[in-house]
Amino acid sequence: MSRTELSALGEFGLINRIAKSTKINNKSTLKGIGDDAAVIRIGDSCQLISTDMLVENIHFDLSYTPLPHLGYKSVAVNVSDIAAMNGTPEQITVSLALSNRFSVEAIDALYEGIFAACEDYKVDLVGGDTTSSPSGLVISITVIGRANPEQIAYRNGAKKGDILCVTGDLGAAYMGLKILQMQKVEFLENPQMQPQLEGREYVVKRQLRPNARMDIIHELADNQVVPTAMIDVSDGLASEILHIATQSGVGVMVYEDKLPIDRETYEVAINDFKVSPSICALNGGEDYELLFTIKQEDYEKLKTHEDISFIGYITDDKEVNLATAGGQKVPMEAQGWNHFKGKQS
Ligand code: ADP
Ligand code: MG
Repeated sequence: MSRTELSALGEFGLINRIAKSTKINNKSTLKGIGDDAAVIRIGDSCQLISTDMLVENIHFDLSYTPLPHLGYKSVAVNVSDIAAMNGTPEQITVSLALSNRFSVEAIDALYEGIFAACEDYKVDLVGGDTTSSPSGLVISITVIGRANPEQIAYRNGAKKGDILCVTGDLGAAYMGLKILQMQKVEFLENPQMQPQLEGREYVVKRQLRPNARMDIIHELADNQVVPTAMIDVSDGLASEILHIATQSGVGVMVYEDKLPIDRETYEVAINDFKVSPSICALNGGEDYELLFTIKQEDYEKLKTHEDISFIGYITDDKEVNLATAGGQKVPMEAQGWNHFKGKQS
């Protein structure tokens, strides 16, 4: 029998392979694999379900991650997937695999963050599972949400002429990760060293304690805007734009000079790492902002919103291009985060 390495397929290749072999047996399953959450019809309403697993030393490093932040982030990244469907989260289950390396106080600290997120996003912790692990901590959270069928925003609804929008700012969480990793190396070389976070507080906070954009979901509803397509930015903007383009069967034109980048992200990128802030925004990850498309007629309703940037538009030529600040047009490539190739995701 031949053996194929997982790295030959990559994470998305593997998921596509599983999806192809999946058979749907129930009419109530409106959307299975392939979006931010599954969609299940229940009467006139729809239930949304999504799950995310965080594994120690793949997704987080406890040498610089405070447990309350980790608990908060584990919930926020799940809530973000419900937001990305234009839904409202209602319940979560939390499953843990733990070793005796962890004390009761450590688990209390983790749950302090989980409960803070439950409060912020108004979700109820309704169950889970607890088991042992040989050494590392594994946190798996499932979130259940709700939406009206007409209001759900799938990844595949973008149409020619729609405007591409993104919330907040991008690239900060990636710069925060780089700062934390750099300071860990420096600390191992010189244990007397104190963390140097001045001027880097924002990017580090974006990495350790991201916020799911439920505020935007409520504001879209208040303004009677239903995005034609939506996804959350977990793997990096370029990767998410390509998901919308591929699944909607459209092209996209994105403008580099419209990418929202915070001043601190910009300075950390240039001064600490000598990397292009745009590359951080396009290919960093874990921003947990919302990327969505709207019909042109809805632009008026959102154009003055301080936390939404209009970064491009949908075309019908199936090409995804970046118009660079220098006036060139280059094909956009995803360099998202891929577990099997050794990047965090
Ligand atoms: P997100 O980044 O929004 O969390 P993922 O990239 O993790 O989404 O997953 C994409 C889709 O693939 C989702 O619909 C998810 O439920 C599905 N998926 C991921 N892993 C598996 C798996 N092992 N088996 C079945 N479906 C999976
Ligand atoms: Mg998602």
